[in-house]
Amino acid sequence: MKTVDIIYRYEARDTLARPLPSDSNAALLRLNHGNRAFAALLDHVKDESGLIQQVIPVDPRDLGLVLGETGIPKQRPFAAILGCSDARVPVELIFNEGPNDLFVIRVAGNGLGTEVLGSLKYAVEHLGSSLKLIVVLGHSGCGAVTAAVDVFLNPADYLPLATKHSLRNILDRLLLVVQTSAKKLLAVFGPDIARCAGYRQALIEASIVTNAALEAYSIQQEFGISEPAKLRAVYGVYLLETREIWVPRLGNMKGVGLAPAPRDLAGFVDLGDAIVQSDRIASYIKSE
Ligand SMILES: [Zn+2]
Repeated sequence: MKTVDIIYRYEARDTLARPLPSDSNAALLRLNHGNRAFAALLDHVKDESGLIQQVIPVDPRDLGLVLGETGIPKQRPFAAILGCSDARVPVELIFNEGPNDLFVIRVAGNGLGTEVLGSLKYAVEHLGSSLKLIVVLGHSGCGAVTAAVDVFLNPADYLPLATKHSLRNILDRLLLVVQTSAKKLLAVFGPDIARCAGYRQALIEASIVTNAALEAYSIQQEFGISEPAKLRAVYGVYLLETREIWVPRLGNMKGVGLAPAPRDLAGFVDLGDAIVQSDRIASYIKSE
């Protein structure tokens, strides 16, 4: 089995360790490329012995390490990322990024609550000179979405939550997405799918990606993002099983990498079609 080193390398230099992306396209490419590099790093780890090294260059100024400079480093993230608190999704690591690259907000189920929106608003208003991208990142097997699916499938499970307002807050905003995803699965695969054992898992995974897409759309609307080259909202699902980001796309069965938020109802209809046609969702249903 190979040994894998992931190294944060600080070197004294006069320029940024890595140039900041000039627009949202460049920022999106960098994150997608970074995630593929991270995922590939461990692809052949079981093949043979040896050493694999991944070096992430880090600017010493970001930790106040350059002699002669005073004060605190200037904040300059190129992407704001709303992710889940799940410990298996370490955001900087999975995108191959280091300190001062990402403005990260993590809450269970990556929900768009008041504090999350306020944090994003701060980033947009105060870090606009470097910020090019807002990312909503769900992940496979999300516990918050799983809980919402289980309440949807068995409404009696909601009763023990009657006085747990903080938990209900998380679940309530997910239930509409779960209901929409269930309608789509039933419409495409027929009512019998609800009796198939893979249905629950298919519904969980369909809801996770739909939730991320809806949140990216909401962020786009909330902040009136109209110049996509300057700032863009994108979304994706981090797959714990492959370490890659997944968004189903029509005509693209693998669907690797972050995708722009749907722009309108037609965009969501396309996404719903892509979800039910995707290999991933089909695999849960066919595994019967
Ligand atoms: Zn989660």
